[in-house]
Amino acid sequence: MIYLDYQATTPLAPEVARAMQPWIEEKFANPHSPSRWGHEAGAAIEVARKQVSQAIGLRDGRVAFTGSATEALNWALKGTVEKAADGRNRIITVATEHAAVLDTCEWLAGQGVDLTILPVQADGMLDLDLLRRELDNRVLLVAAMMVNNEIGVRHPLTAISAMAHKVGALVLSDAVQAFGRVELCKGPDLIAVSAHKIHGPKGIGALWVRNGKEPASLLHGGGQEQGLRSGTLSPMLCVGFGAAAKLADERCTRDYDHIETLWSAAVDALGPGWVINGSTEHRYKGNLNIRREGLDGARLIADLRDIAFSLGSACASGSGRSSHVLRALGLDYRQARSSIRLGFGRYTTQEELVDACQRIAVHAVAQEKLDA
Ligand code: PLP
Repeated sequence: MIYLDYQATTPLAPEVARAMQPWIEEKFANPHSPSRWGHEAGAAIEVARKQVSQAIGLRDGRVAFTGSATEALNWALKGTVEKAADGRNRIITVATEHAAVLDTCEWLAGQGVDLTILPVQADGMLDLDLLRRELDNRVLLVAAMMVNNEIGVRHPLTAISAMAHKVGALVLSDAVQAFGRVELCKGPDLIAVSAHKIHGPKGIGALWVRNGKEPASLLHGGGQEQGLRSGTLSPMLCVGFGAAAKLADERCTRDYDHIETLWSAAVDALGPGWVINGSTEHRYKGNLNIRREGLDGARLIADLRDIAFSLGSACASGSGRSSHVLRALGLDYRQARSSIRLGFGRYTTQEELVDACQRIAVHAVAQEKLDA
């Protein structure tokens, strides 16, 4: 199989698997218990916390582990609303956010929060003047992602944060697709990350929280995670996350150089007739979301079963609805269905990527002939 779905998840790094091994096979102590073994597990978690923190690279804050980035985003949004000062009841977010943000915001709107969802331009970028016009002293939080999972577009979170801070609003950024891949923007007060997008294990994420901006707890109970989040931490998952973060931090430039080489090779191998969805300038280049007039993306995926890639239009199962991100760019249903997403990274070889792209191009042309 040629794996080209790096935005969905990434293969576990061998170094990460090795670091996790003892915590899977032998070391089972509860990291919160006072025994010697408990202390050992607790210490391993603290090392992992430092590694994640170091890779995030921001000061004046701390990392709290969660069960996923989805949990981190829910916690940040709901917990910030719970602690809001009187008169601050507005959340501003962006139409191309992940469902973990958009659906949580919609839920909060149902509870009385005044929600504004800003549109994006045809290249997926946010119009900062539009944001500036929306900002006032009723805004509690601005939620904007650093790198989009469907189209790879990068938002200028440092500028967005400066604007939001001017009116006293907090900033939450979903950095799931940015963390470990590009340098994170300074500015946001709350940042959500996930291990499985950086060659770590599934089932663990984290929320980086600026000191003094802690959201109210989402999960109540033993308060194991610094009194902010309850639930026994998993040493094996934390250790795996830490190892993955350390590796990503060390290899960041090397990985990105590799990705830029892959991007150019993929574009060349695909040949003419494709349009890239989203800005090519402000983009993480491990994401190539492309469309072709008349292409049936789902049929292409079915025809090429030994290549793992996905539809740019992530159809909600059975509903046939096209991607909200591509719709936000102004693409119609037909154009969204003609879009595919190729995601590649650290372990993708140029040979396999070129092979996959050439076969994708051949099948796309064959579809055109068949449909003519
Ligand atoms: N945000 C973005 C941009 C994502 O790509 C994902 C995962 O698909 C998530 C949030 C959710 O992350 P997790 O799988 O850790 O819940």
